[in-house]
Amino acid sequence: MPLATAAHIARTTARLFLDSLLPPQCLNCNAVVDRPGSLCADCFSRFTFITPPCCEHCGIPFEGAVIGDLVCGACLTDRPAFERARAAFVYNADSRALVLKLKHADRTDATVHLARWLRRAGAELIARCDVIVPVPLHRWRLLMRTYNQAALLTNALAKLSGKPAVPDALVRIKATPSQGRLDRVARRRNVAKAFAVQRPAQIAGKRVLLIDDVLTTGATADACAKTLLMAGASAVDALVLARVPTSGAAFS
Ligand SMILES: [Zn+2]
Ligand SMILES: [Zn+2]
Repeated sequence: MPLATAAHIARTTARLFLDSLLPPQCLNCNAVVDRPGSLCADCFSRFTFITPPCCEHCGIPFEGAVIGDLVCGACLTDRPAFERARAAFVYNADSRALVLKLKHADRTDATVHLARWLRRAGAELIARCDVIVPVPLHRWRLLMRTYNQAALLTNALAKLSGKPAVPDALVRIKATPSQGRLDRVARRRNVAKAFAVQRPAQIAGKRVLLIDDVLTTGATADACAKTLLMAGASAVDALVLARVPTSGAAFS
């Protein structure tokens, strides 16, 4: 077992032990709550969980009544390689702390609870998929961070749903600069040819459900979907925890 993984497991175990001694905390702000894995009333009121109507393809939420096709302008002009993307909640100033916590701090114990949110948001996509695959981190980032939050979510969701996970199906072959403030086109260029399939036998002919923590412009999910389709996947859907509510805009 790599040292980083062992250290991470030790930290998570220590945290789980400490958590068992303390009252349960809000997933977002650490206020005391009744049930483990829930949000406090204040955070709950500020979180925007995504419900229909939303774009049939990319899942971007529509405001107000929608008449006619439920496809957003961005998907009409430039349809992504994935068939459908769905997200549990909107990524904004109020939900950002939760996503960052999962990315940079040792709050990986929260993934079990967050996988339940994924299951709710992506029930239809989970039901029709054959395998679940995470968006990979580049090896260097993985070394620095010690774990890939998308892989943790994938494993937790596989356990909950009974669908098989292939955590190392995709690899990142190009270290891409941070997507930070790039727009849709720049992000696409940034991640084009950044991925490769290293388990083609487990992907060929399969409908893949791709997992990530955040979907911003969809450029990463699009690049992963293209790579998986070229390796023989029959179709690709994407399921993420949070998505930026406007297409083509970088969130900062
Ligand atoms: Zn809270
Ligand atoms: Zn769309």
